[in-house]
Amino acid sequence: MVLSSENELPDILSNVNIVYFREAMSEKSSDYDIAFIEGSATTAKEVRKLRKIRAQAKLVITLGACSSTGGLNRLKNRFRIGELKESVYGVEASRSHAFDTMRVRAIDEVIEVDHHLHGCPISKDEFIKTFNDLLLGLKPHTPNYPVCTDCKIAGNVCVFKKGGRCLGPVTRAGCDAICVTYGSICWGCRGFVDSPNITAHTETLANFGMGAEEASDFLGLYSTGLTGDTKVGKATKSTKSKQR
Ligand code: SF4
Ligand code: SF4
Repeated sequence: MVLSSENELPDILSNVNIVYFREAMSEKSSDYDIAFIEGSATTAKEVRKLRKIRAQAKLVITLGACSSTGGLNRLKNRFRIGELKESVYGVEASRSHAFDTMRVRAIDEVIEVDHHLHGCPISKDEFIKTFNDLLLGLKPHTPNYPVCTDCKIAGNVCVFKKGGRCLGPVTRAGCDAICVTYGSICWGCRGFVDSPNITAHTETLANFGMGAEEASDFLGLYSTGLTGDTKVGKATKSTKSKQR
């Protein structure tokens, strides 16, 4: 998504110096002010790397669902680590020292994060807007209203009215409800709004024929703290320290 910002990249590059971008360049430097982080933390090596990044960067920004909430990677947390290793490595799984893997964590469960860019994929417009805000010394904005608002603005007919189920009422907006607009449903890739009314939405899903277990799985697809994924050390702004 970042690389597809071809119209905006020349302006971006005239204002910042990109020193490390694994997908786009081979040069590496650890001298930077802002770190954009993709992906979730799932190995001890990644946790160590994240702590080094936090020690270096003045600002840490997550880029996408996996880094912001754990994303679909978080499905791994529904299984025991031993069970997962056996299914992937068979008899070799007992060589536990050979496979550095642990429960999936969003980046803010490991280090302090200054801003999240949500979504799978992220919104290009939100990325550019965030970049501009940072260059102007402003705090980037994070929408805290549900996808349903975007959906109404887009003029969509509600999925529930067509017999479907949707996570728009509890999911953070900012994507223009693009999935509904293009005929799908909101799967919740931008994570929950602050203080989502899970109980009410579970009741709504039940009214539309979705059982409690299925609803729990659905709600927990991209977001944390549901369906047996016990969230470890999720910090709020007020309790965060630089490193965890
Ligand atoms: S389709 Fe989904 S996002 Fe759109 S209004 Fe209905 S519940 Fe909300
Ligand atoms: S509609 Fe839902 S699933 Fe689609 S991009 Fe927006 S938040 Fe993600």
